[in-house]
Amino acid sequence: MSQDRLIKLQCQKCKRINYWSSKNKKLVTRKIELKKFCNWCRVSTPHKEAKK
Ligand SMILES: [Zn+2]
Repeated sequence: MSQDRLIKLQCQKCKRINYWSSKNKKLVTRKIELKKFCNWCRVSTPHKEAKK
């Protein structure tokens, strides 16, 4: 039984979905934000969990 849920990571600059991740809702209650390389912006940008 898994509590993990698929989430989208959206570039905060161009608003594109670049990464998929999973998070355990019981362990992680805050919104995920990661610095990732965006292929569209061509730089590392903050990627935030996007709503479905
Ligand atoms: Zn981008």
